[in-house]
Amino acid sequence: RFVTFEGIDGSGKSTQARLLAEALRDQGRDVVQTREPGGSPGAEEIRELLLRGDPDRWSAETEILLFTAARRDHLERTIEPALAAGRVVICDRFADSTRVYQGVTRGDLRDLVDRLHALMIRREPDLTILIDMDPRTGLNRALGRHDGEDRFEGFGLEMQERLREGFLALAAEFPDRFRVIDGNRPVDSIARDVRNAVTEIL
Ligand code: C5P
Repeated sequence: RFVTFEGIDGSGKSTQARLLAEALRDQGRDVVQTREPGGSPGAEEIRELLLRGDPDRWSAETEILLFTAARRDHLERTIEPALAAGRVVICDRFADSTRVYQGVTRGDLRDLVDRLHALMIRREPDLTILIDMDPRTGLNRALGRHDGEDRFEGFGLEMQERLREGFLALAAEFPDRFRVIDGNRPVDSIARDVRNAVTEIL
């Protein structure tokens, strides 16, 4: 089974992905925890290309190609082999992040994202957990921990609000696989809701 976490920066999705992986391992399940951009040696190298450098290092189109190339490598080397072996794959961000981030931050490029996805990726998660978070809280958290070298830093509050709306719109577009969980609560309450959602599909 393939479970992804999505949400704006500072939504707590990475923490929740880790807690879910620990809970499933405690149940004796074979779990692979991974993330995007990255998740395989080649894709981690592409992550460096994507996150380092000037904000305008890549054109919007090149950026989408790099995200798609990283995802293709991650899929081939990490995700598909694990799924074929019957393991549970938990991934922090996947194609939905590209649909929302590149669609929102670099103009209306959803059609290009979708066409490349159809050509090169195709795989969709069995379940996508959207950790829905107040944009101001998320921004404060993200700014508190970033190291100042991420090209995507500097997204202000207005951008965070648009990204949140983008994720909610995507959840409405794919209601069968999305579960929206209120992230403005204590970590363990969120984790319990995440476990309940995942139990339904395992
Ligand atoms: O989730 P994580 O913090 O590792 O993401 C790294 C950065 O890449 C974030 O600042 C996020 O906003 C950005 N990103 C993006 N487009 C994606 C995935 C991540 O702009 N498709």
